[in-house]
Amino acid sequence: MQRQKIIAANWKMNGNLALVDTMTSELNSITFSNNVKVVICPSFVYLSALSVKIANENIKLGAQNFSEHASGAFTGEISADMLNEISASYVIIGHSERRSVFGETDIEIAKKVKVALANNLIPILCIGESEAERVEERTNAVLSKQLQPVIDEIGIESFKDVVIAYEPVWAIGTGKTASPEMAQETHQFIRQFLAKSNAVIAEGVSLLYGGSVNAANSEELFAQADIDGGLIGGASLKVDEFKIICSAAQGS
Ligand code: PEP
Repeated sequence: MQRQKIIAANWKMNGNLALVDTMTSELNSITFSNNVKVVICPSFVYLSALSVKIANENIKLGAQNFSEHASGAFTGEISADMLNEISASYVIIGHSERRSVFGETDIEIAKKVKVALANNLIPILCIGESEAERVEERTNAVLSKQLQPVIDEIGIESFKDVVIAYEPVWAIGTGKTASPEMAQETHQFIRQFLAKSNAVIAEGVSLLYGGSVNAANSEELFAQADIDGGLIGGASLKVDEFKIICSAAQGS
């Protein structure tokens, strides 16, 4: 089966209007394979500017977070309607920084996935273990505990519209990448975990790897059987490096 390849750029609280300009002018002219999508997730402030400048149907706009509430007295929050209005089509949910810094729980994350789907936003659901959990050989238990509430909330069939990003927390922003073999083994576990509920759905879900992906390691990571692209932090802020990562997905 040909799964959708996705390279998602998580700018976090970085970037500016100049990066919006250079990134779009460089990426707009690339001819991507049909099954490759590049999703740029800037800070909320730059979503509109990016939305105007994207001129390539393989490049999509994504948000880094959103509120599960539809509207109202939630100072500082952004709704799904607002994201729809500026043509965002993806939203990152449950990034490890949202979990650890902002205290988002598995249950809240599951609710956000449900609200995203109800509003035609494609969730990029982030899961991953800490270094201590990996050392204690609890990786699979942690991933199961993060995934199960989402399956319970939306039902396995709805995973046909969900992207999962496996991001070992110890590899995010640290320069330590999971080896391609280790990443593949964990991606395979995630797919098999989903397959226990529905094998056909599991086979179609795009599973992204995230954690210090760069120009030098992307090709080998994306060549793994169960890795369908990446969620890229630091390297997505460097236009030339990000272009190399995108081309690694083209060839995988
Ligand atoms: C991320 O923030 O999701 C991420 C993977 O960051 P980095 O690529 O910098 O490790």
